[in-house]
Amino acid sequence: MLAAMPDSAPSPLSAGGVSPRTGGDACPGTLRLHRADDGALARVRIPGGVLSADQADALLTAAARFGDGELHLTSRGNVQLRGLGTECGGELAGLLTDAGLLPSAAHERARNIVASPLAGLDGSGGLGVWLTELDRLVCGSAAAATLSGRFLFALDDGRGDVDALGADVTLIAEGPSGAALLRIGAADEVFRVPATDAPRAALLAAEEFLRAAGDPGAWRVKDLPDDVRAELVRTTGSAAGPTVHRPRPRTATPPAPGTHGSAITAEVPLGRLTPAQWRLLTETARRYGGELRLTPWRGIVIPGPVPRPEVVEALRTLSESGLITAPDSPWTGVGACIGHPGCAKSLSDVRAEAGAAVGPPGRLPVYWSGCERRCGHPHGEWIDVVVTPDGHRISHVRGERRDPPATVGNDPAALAAAVAAARA
Ligand code: SF4
Repeated sequence: MLAAMPDSAPSPLSAGGVSPRTGGDACPGTLRLHRADDGALARVRIPGGVLSADQADALLTAAARFGDGELHLTSRGNVQLRGLGTECGGELAGLLTDAGLLPSAAHERARNIVASPLAGLDGSGGLGVWLTELDRLVCGSAAAATLSGRFLFALDDGRGDVDALGADVTLIAEGPSGAALLRIGAADEVFRVPATDAPRAALLAAEEFLRAAGDPGAWRVKDLPDDVRAELVRTTGSAAGPTVHRPRPRTATPPAPGTHGSAITAEVPLGRLTPAQWRLLTETARRYGGELRLTPWRGIVIPGPVPRPEVVEALRTLSESGLITAPDSPWTGVGACIGHPGCAKSLSDVRAEAGAAVGPPGRLPVYWSGCERRCGHPHGEWIDVVVTPDGHRISHVRGERRDPPATVGNDPAALAAAVAAARA
């Protein structure tokens, strides 16, 4: 089915207040394609970003057969296929189902789960069965099928990377205690639950959110009225386990490109992978453990174990293909929405502008948006570059706060200099 709807679901920067659901949930999926200027778009949910090499092959086949051949990574570790024909929905769904990427048609847009991409790979504890168990529970819950495509679960191995992403329900591995901490929304108070009960506690929190949100209600926990949200946290959390004070990290730190223990990490410039790059990553994964993990920072982790000489060779090959394999790459931390010509709302070709402005790596990530919607923007602390009719507006974002912006006219050199200064 192809639904006419606004471009990629926006993620408003402003927080607080009441944001009731208005209109339909515009988030695209694989059964509900989104009409963009470059054709239809499908967003394939990849819980935890975890793909087998065979599933990666299936996505490449889908992109080549039905779309423009490229694979786009999202800020939730999902994959978008673009340039699709309007009549491909049935065949696309069949291909993804055969690959195990569409286990429940009713839940396909609710399977939004991010997970620490290095869990269990660099000396940290793993996440055990949380990911597969939570996905199984979500797909088995009739209520969960009504979650909006924006609702997000996060599974954090204790390092705080995906805990900082502002998910609606977060499980955090507590390490020494062997327990899990359940966070609902951005609350500083979390609740300790036995690790084996954690996925079910996360699902129950989501189902309680739906009850609290009503019909029609909020899309996300942060959109609930303050008193409703506080009551949800208090009653659902205290029923789950004892309270622990643990403020949410404000800044998400992605795995640096390179090696981490037995894993290889590569970032993807602007999140866009050519067929050759995707094939290379898949072949590399197949030689190692057969798994790829897509990160919420538009990167890819390939778990080992891998002998050191092979790691060096793999990084060299990935780098030669255009992927980012070292933290000092000029592309590290640079992101952009699809912009013109893919999106009708865009006021410019922000990908080309971001590419023209890359320079020495900056301390802060930068994200370029073709309009105020800022689809796929980062979380935490980052530099926001948004195109306006008056020029490019640059501002420093710190969580929910932003510094007064500066506007730069259409002078590429001045723009690059201003962005570099802001990121320093
Ligand atoms: S221009 Fe960019 S930020 Fe605006 S709607 Fe399109 S994709 Fe989203």
